[in-house]
Amino acid sequence: MQEREIIPPGSTLGILGDGQLGRMLAMAAAKLGYKVAVLGPGGRQSPAGHVAYWAEAWSKDNNVSGKLLYEFCKLVSVVMIEWENIPLDVVQRIETIGIPVRPSSDVLAIAQDRLLEKQCARALGIPVPKFWNIERIEDWWEDCWDSTTACILKTRCNGYDGKGQVRILPGKSTKDAWITLGEVPCTLETVVNFACEISVIVARSPATGEMVTYGPFENGHRGGILRVTKYPLSQKYTAPPFSSVKSRAVARARKLAEHLNVHGLLAVEFFVGKDGRVLFNEMAPRPHNSGHLTIECCDTSQFEQYVRAVCNLPLGRARFHSHGEMRNIVGEVNQWSKHLAKDHASLHLYGKSEARGGRKMGHTTRSSKIRE
Ligand code: AMP
Repeated sequence: MQEREIIPPGSTLGILGDGQLGRMLAMAAAKLGYKVAVLGPGGRQSPAGHVAYWAEAWSKDNNVSGKLLYEFCKLVSVVMIEWENIPLDVVQRIETIGIPVRPSSDVLAIAQDRLLEKQCARALGIPVPKFWNIERIEDWWEDCWDSTTACILKTRCNGYDGKGQVRILPGKSTKDAWITLGEVPCTLETVVNFACEISVIVARSPATGEMVTYGPFENGHRGGILRVTKYPLSQKYTAPPFSSVKSRAVARARKLAEHLNVHGLLAVEFFVGKDGRVLFNEMAPRPHNSGHLTIECCDTSQFEQYVRAVCNLPLGRARFHSHGEMRNIVGEVNQWSKHLAKDHASLHLYGKSEARGGRKMGHTTRSSKIRE
C-alpha cells in the first residue's frame, strides 16, 4: 500500500491491544464510519473487544498463530497500536504480509526500549536525565556503585504504570534493586527533582508529513500511575523560569515524530526542572492517557486524529475550545453515581470486570468552555 493511499470510511481498521485506549479508538473510528478488528490478550472479553466488530484473543504467552494473524490481516486495511508492549514480532509479521502498521515496527522497537528511546532523544539534542545502561552485574560496579544521588532502576522493556522500576536512595545497595527486577537489562537514571511532569501528543500524516500537536498537558502521578491531567498548564508553569516550557516541549516532540517518521500518533513525556529545563522521559507511539480530555475539550480528539492520520484523511483541528481536568479512576469503581451527578463532568467506564490493584477502570473529565 502506498503511503498516500486513502483508506475510506467503511473499511475495517485493525487495533493491536485491547484495553481502554483501543476502546476509545474503536469508538472514534466508528464515528467516522469504520469498523474495527481487535487483536489482544483479552479478545471479545476486553474493553476494546466489547465495542469492536471483530475481536480475538492471542494466547496467554502473547503468541499469535499464523492462522489467527492471517485472519486478522485479511480483514484490515491498516493497523493501529494501543499498547506499546505489543510483541515486536507480531507487528513485523503483519508488515511482512503487506498491511501497514502505523506507527511502524521501527518506531515501536525504539519506543519499547528505555535505553534506545533515551539515546534517540539525546542524539537529537534533547536533554535527558543522566542515565546508565545496566546489562550485566559488572556494569554496576564500574559506574554506579558510588552513586551519591537518588536513582531509579527501570527494566529496559515491558515496564508501565510504575511497574518494572525501583527507586534507590543515595548510598543504598543498587545490586538488590537489580535482583528485585529479575536481573534483566535495565537503565539506571538519576531522580529528577522536577517542578512538574508534562506530555505532548503529536499526530503526523503518512501522506504529507503534516503534524498537529496537543499539549503540553500537566500530569500528576502517584505510585508511578497517572492520576490527574490538566490543560492548560497551571499559571505558575507559564511564568519565568517556565515561560518557554510550552514551545520547547512542543518543538521537541515534533522533532522526535519527524525524525522517527511517525505515521499516526506519538506521545512524549517530559520532566520540567525547577529551573525550567525540559527533559525527555519517555515516548509511546499510541494514544496517551493524558490525551483523554481531548475528547471533551478539543475540536478533534486524539483518538479521531489517530484514525484520520492512519487513513490519510485530512487531519482535524487540534484547537482546545475548553479547559479540562481528567482524573483516572484507579481500582474499585464505587462512586459512579457521584461522578455522574457532577456538573460539566463526563464519566468514562471501561467495562473491566475486575478491579485488581492499580488497574485503571475509568476516568472523569471536567471541562469549562474557553471564552473567546
Ligand atoms: P515512567 O514509567 O518512566 O514514566 O515512570 C513513572 C513515573 O515515575 C514518572 O511519571 C515519574 O513520576 C516517576 N519517575 C520516573 N523516572 C523518574 C526520574 N528519573 N526522576 C523522577 N521521577 C521519575
